[in-house]
Parts: sequence; C-alpha cells; structure tokens
Amino acid sequence: MRPEDILVPTPAGVCCKLGAFHIDPTRPVERALITHAHSDHARSGHGAVLATQETLDLMRLRYGENFAGTTQAIRYGESVSLGGAAVTFHPAGHVLGSAQIAVAANGLRVVASGDYKNAPDPTCVPFELVPCDLFITEATFALPVFRHGDASGEIKKLLGSVALFPDRAHLVGAYSLGKAQRLIALLRQAGYQAPIYLHGAMESITRYYTSRGVHLGELRTARGAGKAELAGTITICPPSALGDLWTRRFPDPVTAFASGWMRIRARARQYGVALPLIISDHADWNGLTETIAATGASEIWVTHGQEDALVHWCATHGRNARPLDIVGYGDEDEADVTAEGGSDT
Ligand SMILES: [Zn+2]
Ligand SMILES: [Zn+2]
Repeated sequence: MRPEDILVPTPAGVCCKLGAFHIDPTRPVERALITHAHSDHARSGHGAVLATQETLDLMRLRYGENFAGTTQAIRYGESVSLGGAAVTFHPAGHVLGSAQIAVAANGLRVVASGDYKNAPDPTCVPFELVPCDLFITEATFALPVFRHGDASGEIKKLLGSVALFPDRAHLVGAYSLGKAQRLIALLRQAGYQAPIYLHGAMESITRYYTSRGVHLGELRTARGAGKAELAGTITICPPSALGDLWTRRFPDPVTAFASGWMRIRARARQYGVALPLIISDHADWNGLTETIAATGASEIWVTHGQEDALVHWCATHGRNARPLDIVGYGDEDEADVTAEGGSDT
C-alpha cells in the first residue's frame, strides 16, 4: 500500500475511500471531515460532519442550525475509526478549533493540514508537528519573499500611531474569523487596555471566542458610537469596510490592514492603507519549508494558490511533490485578498 491509496485527490477535495469520507470538500458529500471553519474549507450541506467542537459551533453561527445532516465533535488527540482508517485531529495553530487531520491505515500516515501556522497565537492551541508519510500543505504564502516576522512588532507600530494621533480613529481591516480576535488579543498582550470597537460583522464570532475563554478585554460595538467617542480609539472591521461609506462616522480615520500580503508594498497601496501590518494566520515561506522538512514526509501535496515554488523546493530537497488542483480554496481569509476588491480610501 502507498500513502496515495489512503487519500486520493478528487475535484471535490481529498477523499478517503477506505473510510468513505472527504476532507474539506468543496461540494456537498455524504461524510465530511472539516479542518477549520473558514468558509472555503467548511461548507454547509454535507450529510455528516466530523470536526472539533469549535469548528462545529462556528459553522452553526455562520450557516444556521441545519448546516449539516448530523454532526460529531472530536477533541485534539482523540482517535476515531472510520472504515479501515484511524482518524486523529491535531492542532493546526491557524484559528480557534483549527485542526490537521491525520489518517492512518496499514502502518502509513497521511496528514491533511488544512491551513496552519507555526507562530505564536494567544487565541488558539499551538501547531503540533505530526510525523507522516504524506503531508498535504497549503501554499498561501509559498514564496521566499514572504517572511511574516514578529507580530508584536506590528502591534507596536499600531499603538505608536494611536499615541501619535490622539484625535483620530484607527480602523484596522482584519478577517472576521481568527485574525480579528488575534489582533485584539495581541493588543491586550501589549498592554492596551482601552475598549476596542467592533464592526457589526465581527460581533458574533468575537463573542464566541470570549465564550471559549479567549481573553479580549472590553469590547464595544462601533454602531451608534459618536465621532467624539471614537477619537483616539481602535476599531476592527472587515477589510472590505475600509473602502466604504461606513468609515465616514469616524473622525479623520487612519486605516490599517493586518495581513501577510502587507509584505508586498503594491498590495498595501492597492488597498490605500496608511498602516500596513504584516500579521498572518498562515505559515510564511520559512514556516512552510521547515514544517514540511520536520514531518519527515517523502511525499508532499500542495494546495492554495502559490503551489509552484513550494513544489520546486520539495523536488530540490529530495521529496516527491505535486500540486492539487482543487478549485475553491482561498475564498476566505487571506487567500481572498484580491476578491475583496481594492478600496479608494
Ligand atoms: Zn483558513
Ligand atoms: Zn484555506
């Protein structure tokens, strides 16, 4: 048996015939195992869904009670057997509840990592390295130019700007699941204690994070707050809101955007943001290559956008690698930065 007999790529996502399930399928299937709740990985309409409790809860928040026929929660480290395969979920360090899914059969192990990062994040369980024979990796930031650096340095930049412009509002664009809450937690870690304001699109997910014990301090809704109240404050909003009329309620706003893409000056310019913050929930080039090497896997499958450079790196480092042509990943979180459209602020 070879690892590719355990999982096979199909147009709807990777499939385990032994266990009769798909991982992060992009089309409705009978049984889906879901790595995390970003909408490109977690879709509604599957017959049965197996995922962490947090992923199931976040899917319910976004899609409503009937997002799947049946659901089953699994804890990190817990193993279930499906057909001839043993399935275990391990922390991916990407967002709350995110998991890598390990599938073992006949002494071979395949790991589908979903999205992951091996950088510190106060809002989720850290990435766990899982040795395997075949590793399926994302490639959102798989170019050597992407080095995310230390997120706390970027937070200092933001707080420096807030101190410099006490009469202006700071609007920080961040994806509503994961990035927004991490940003708030990092601000608290840096000692920022003032209330942080939220765009309406952030409210329910952020409230869910706090219900799971993530410390985010005092949060207020920006809706209904007057200009005077918003002077000198920080508001977190979806990146798309930075360019719309919604910003008019804020006094002379300074716009910021927290994303791994902010490493690229042209991207920051395209968004018209004054303060690009390089903070990503994905592994950067070093993170990807170090992780691939550390898994010990001899076979690598690559998804999510920038496959070529990573496939090439694997080939020159003694590993078999191939891109997976699964259409539909990267519609949420940082992979969709272009789909959000530019802004004219
Ligand atoms: Zn994701
Ligand atoms: Zn993804």
